[in-house]
Amino acid sequence: MVLLPTERIFVRGADGYEAARRSTVWNGLVPQRFPDTIMQAVDTAEIVAAIGYARDNGHHVGVCSGGRSWTASHLRDGGLLLDVGRLDHCEVDTDRMIAHVGPGKCASDFALELDAQGLFFPAGHCEGIRLGGYLLQGGYGWNSNAVGPACESVLGLDVVTADGERVYCDADNHPDLYWAARGSGPGFFGVVTSFTVRIYQRPRALGMCLYMYPIEVADEVFSWARAIGPEIDDRVELQLVTTRGVPAAGIEDPVITVASPVFADSEEEAAKALAALGSCPVVDRAITSLPYAPTTLANWYAAVMGNYPQGYRYVVDNMFTSASADELLPGIREIVKTMPPHPSQFILTGWKPSAHRADLVYGLEDEIYLALYTAWRDPADDERYRDWAGSNMAAMSHLSTGISLADENLCRRPAPFTTDANMARLDKVRSSYDPDHRFHSWLRGE
Ligand SMILES: Cc1cc2nc3c(=O)[nH]c(=O)nc-3n(C[C@H](O)[C@H](O)[C@H](O)COP(=O)(O)OP(=O)(O)OC[C@H]3O[C@@H](n4cnc5c(N)ncnc54)[C@H](O)[C@@H]3O)c2cc1C
Repeated sequence: MVLLPTERIFVRGADGYEAARRSTVWNGLVPQRFPDTIMQAVDTAEIVAAIGYARDNGHHVGVCSGGRSWTASHLRDGGLLLDVGRLDHCEVDTDRMIAHVGPGKCASDFALELDAQGLFFPAGHCEGIRLGGYLLQGGYGWNSNAVGPACESVLGLDVVTADGERVYCDADNHPDLYWAARGSGPGFFGVVTSFTVRIYQRPRALGMCLYMYPIEVADEVFSWARAIGPEIDDRVELQLVTTRGVPAAGIEDPVITVASPVFADSEEEAAKALAALGSCPVVDRAITSLPYAPTTLANWYAAVMGNYPQGYRYVVDNMFTSASADELLPGIREIVKTMPPHPSQFILTGWKPSAHRADLVYGLEDEIYLALYTAWRDPADDERYRDWAGSNMAAMSHLSTGISLADENLCRRPAPFTTDANMARLDKVRSSYDPDHRFHSWLRGE
């Protein structure tokens, strides 16, 4: 059996353990959960060995690639934590328009490298997320309204199963495992060592609009956004970000920023597709009004990251809904009224659900996505802020059709993320591939 070098094995209580544990969590709020052993694998042979070790010792296994799970769902008490972030290979085949990528490949690096070659992949909107967790949970990325959640672009996966077998799954091989890998997120029961994904030609024009509204016109802005959401061109991402001020712009008051990217074949088409975002009835009250400007992916990443500084303690929650503006407004008013300081934020995004998705477990989606991101620095504020996201989403849960695993908060607020039929099928597939529940599933309870 291949054994991992001891410098990449960390046993609880020994030197280097705490650094290895913390290095698997991006969130400044590092949970007090302690695996018995942490192993940092660099290749598939080491992963097979690690799974063998876990089996021989009766350990449950948690897996992480980039540690961007908001809840650090890979981090559990006891058992083995397998860190596969070092598997970050990336081979692009432009003849077949596919790429083979490791779970540790940074999604934003992948997107920018493709961009430089005139290619495209719907990677997530923030820097640092790894493809491992991102693709398994669904993946809401650039231009996803047009090309679908990123997991729809996963053509196949190399997986190490609970009994240490290396398998390739796709539509023809281990189709049930392939189905399960596209959307089960932290509930997946295997270790992905490589993804084969479809890549795309990069749309010729990437543009944006920017409007900023004072909070006094919140009712008008949110009602308008709810109304136009389903009508907007698929290539435009409707995105409203509400914060208590925007330090980078010198704004100290609460503000609603409508910042939307568009991907089109020409500047002219891009500007035309964005025109609908200038139709807000209170557009004359906007503090900033920029109907169209060409931009780049690198600029977008830089702008988005202003709202996700590292070192903060984050708790997030979310819901999909198709409720009317009248139904949503009481909850939105409460969110706005109680919102913690920047960089905490409330995002309302338009989404295009589809009845024609590929056969995958990825599940509940709807026209509007609401997400709350609480961010604070001082541990002394934990009690004050910890429940803001969850309690506001709980208060609106009667309007929810489900949640996304991207911003899941299942440990504090369980909520459905796929259909009952999919959950039943997933249980069956799990019992066939992981009958002893070797792999941890979704985190319930802190
Ligand atoms: C700042 C920030 C911005 C974000 N923006 C977006 C966004 O724009 N769009 C979006 O869709 N999501 C977004 N997310 C959510 C993010 O995509 C998910 O949390 C994703 O799971 C992160 O992947 P990871 O590999 O970095 O995380 P990890 O914490 O390493 O993994 C999350 C879970 O996935 C499973 N997993 C990971 N790797 C493997 C593997 N190789 N084999 C088997 N199971 C594995 C494990 O169960 C693990 O607990 C964002 C998160 C953060 C922190």
